[in-house]
Amino acid sequence: SAVPSDSPTIFDKIINKEIPANIVYEDDKVLAFRDINPQAPTHILIIPKVKDGLTGISKAEEKHHEILGQLLYTAKLVAKQEGLEKGFRLVINDGPDGCQSVYHLHIHLLGGRQMNWPPG
Ligand code: 5GP
Repeated sequence: SAVPSDSPTIFDKIINKEIPANIVYEDDKVLAFRDINPQAPTHILIIPKVKDGLTGISKAEEKHHEILGQLLYTAKLVAKQEGLEKGFRLVINDGPDGCQSVYHLHIHLLGGRQMNWPPG
């Protein structure tokens, strides 16, 4: 697992189209693309195009309220686009105990199989 930092991550290269990604949704603020190591039939990452200090959800401030809402709403749109009418799961890993590996805020959208609770 990575050490938390505010340095650029692999996601900046995806945003800037410097490395390829399977993009499923894009607007001026938000990007959604398929996870390279999927943990479910549908596994999509939803990220802000501008990190603005949001290495993770634990760094959220009042100035981030609008983008946080946009990320969650995009998760709903993409779930519908992916046909996940039987349900899905949203996950945000934070910090070393949360198993976060990329320090650019992202929401995992997981679906297409039965999820279990609690996760390990
Ligand atoms: P975290 O562990 O930080 O919550 O999630 C990071 C996710 O990013 C992992 O699920 C990992 O598979 C995914 N990931 C890491 N590098 C890349 C990449 O270059 N392309 C894509 N599409 N996903 C990546």
